[in-house]
Amino acid sequence: MNAFELPDHAASARAAAIAASDASPAETPSTPSVLFVDQSGQPGGAELCLLPLAARCVSHSEVLLLSDGPFRARLEALGVRVQVSSHARVVAIRRDNLRLGWLKAIPGIIGQIRVIAARARRFDVLFLNTQKALVLGALGKPLHRRPVVWHVHDVMTRDHFGPLQLQIVRWLARHAIDQFVANSSATANALIALTGLPADAVTVIHNGVDASAFTPVDTGDLRALRRRLGLPETAWLAGLFGRLAPWKGQHVAIAALPRLPHVHLVLVGAALFGEDAYAHALERQAEQLGVRERVHFAGLRDDIPAWMTAMNLILHTSTEPEPFGRVIIEGMAAARPVVAAAAGGMLEIVRHRQNGWLVQPGDADALVEAIETLRVMPELAQRLADQGCADVRADFSLERYLEQMTRVIHHAKRQD
Ligand code: UDP
Repeated sequence: MNAFELPDHAASARAAAIAASDASPAETPSTPSVLFVDQSGQPGGAELCLLPLAARCVSHSEVLLLSDGPFRARLEALGVRVQVSSHARVVAIRRDNLRLGWLKAIPGIIGQIRVIAARARRFDVLFLNTQKALVLGALGKPLHRRPVVWHVHDVMTRDHFGPLQLQIVRWLARHAIDQFVANSSATANALIALTGLPADAVTVIHNGVDASAFTPVDTGDLRALRRRLGLPETAWLAGLFGRLAPWKGQHVAIAALPRLPHVHLVLVGAALFGEDAYAHALERQAEQLGVRERVHFAGLRDDIPAWMTAMNLILHTSTEPEPFGRVIIEGMAAARPVVAAAAGGMLEIVRHRQNGWLVQPGDADALVEAIETLRVMPELAQRLADQGCADVRADFSLERYLEQMTRVIHHAKRQD
């Protein structure tokens, strides 16, 4: 029996499940029904990317979350059906404790594989949106036998992942995934290098944003907006959006501040995945450098268009290659000049001094130069912002993203 042939009892379980699935058929014969699986209850980039797709497929899909959190309410507010199946030991497995964590979690892992497989049998396509969803959903393929789409949001290299995890991904990619969608060429290339997949096996689909949600406000409104958000009304504000995590490089932006005496830094985001020590270290760093009163910790927000619009400039400071970097297309959509670290997906979005400004990752000196140049040259900043806004509308629209993603899902069903 090969890895994906079913034992007899599993085959009969599958037959029963298929009969049960007749009770909830897809909307039309040509519209695939989709089970989306995501491990996180927190709204990170991968989840915010899934949000509009799940909403687009609302009448014939469901989202299964492997832990509960505010992302659930965001989905439900759009009418998306959500199930939560969480197992404490599986939730506790993290990239940095994989070796020990997963041994203790084996019963939970088996349970979660079964839960996902049982649910998946009611749908045409299983769509896996995160790493744990990938492992648990793909390992259950002998049970659910559904075409599997993996939406890859990570650069799969040793910078971010341990050798065991990369090994597992390599095996699953070869044996259990039917369609790969990468959020950038950077992500696709790392996956291809890891797995040896042919280049045309991975479809690159960039994230998209609804630019109309980011309509800029006029200067009169700007002061009122800042007052409402609790920000200094007249200061020159550089906004850095994203969870607080060492590789997101908030410390690089703080390190630049002593040489930017006219600039305030607004950090929008929180430590979502246990990086509290880093968050405290950022506060200490700001105090030690004497810039604490110019660093505003805004915490996690969900009204991002308003927060982006309140800024003079949007920063991106990741020290590792960013898989994609939604924050920068959002900043462009808000018609703000952007400064981004030149690596990974950013190189597919930002063209230096044409629609934004690129700096070497981790280079605080280059950051100082970029921010100060755009602060003292408002015409240049405006030109870059205008071009960025036009580029987002042309190349990173939500409609284009949704259309390409739904095409992949249709294709996955046809492969079945
Ligand atoms: N974000 C948010 N609230 C915050 C900070 C960030 O909703 O307080 C959003 C941000 O607007 C972006 C996403 O989180 O849409 C981060 O995506 P990105 O691709 O930049 O990074 P990731 O989290 O995937 O590493």
